[in-house]
Amino acid sequence: MKIICVGRNYVAHAKELNNDIPDEPVLFMKPDSALLRNNDPFYIPEWSNEVHHEIELIVRIKKLGKNIEKKFAYRYYGEIGIGIDFTARDVQDALKSKGLPWEKAKAFDHAAVVCPEFVSIDSLPDRNAVHFRLDINGKTVQEGNSELMIFQIDDIISHVSKYFTLKIGDLIFTGTPSGVGPVHLGDRLEGYLEGVKKFDFWIK
Ligand code: ZN
Repeated sequence: MKIICVGRNYVAHAKELNNDIPDEPVLFMKPDSALLRNNDPFYIPEWSNEVHHEIELIVRIKKLGKNIEKKFAYRYYGEIGIGIDFTARDVQDALKSKGLPWEKAKAFDHAAVVCPEFVSIDSLPDRNAVHFRLDINGKTVQEGNSELMIFQIDDIISHVSKYFTLKIGDLIFTGTPSGVGPVHLGDRLEGYLEGVKKFDFWIK
């Protein structure tokens, strides 16, 4: 499986990092070795002094597809979850300033946190307006709603599938709302989807 991530998909987040608002989805990928599941703890790598949390909605692909038209995109997923796109911001800033790829900052081991259980799209009150949030040590630090995404899930699936064949089990991280910031040793991260806790793990 592969993990495809969308960058700068919320206006407020693009602005907080001084990035332009994109006119097409900004894409990058993480390998399967980046997965961190089952609420396992996250260990801050020794080569970064600034690992940021980015809570994101995650879409799980349920059907093989290539060149998917937007109007048919809904057929390719049935469940969503939440997770963290961990980002070594100091490393990313250094790479960006040199015009180099971001992989070391985004695709390192355990940089893709995925909640243990996804929820069926059909069980949500409104599939186009999904609320999610991240609490650190009991305080809400990031809050988002999928209706504020610049590119909606169907747009993303259509765009991604032009370049990369989507396979069953692939995950798409759909971008983070504003409020990103560093995590610290001993932090407890709790993620909520429509008010229901979906992940709960520690930084070590
Ligand atoms: Zn992200």
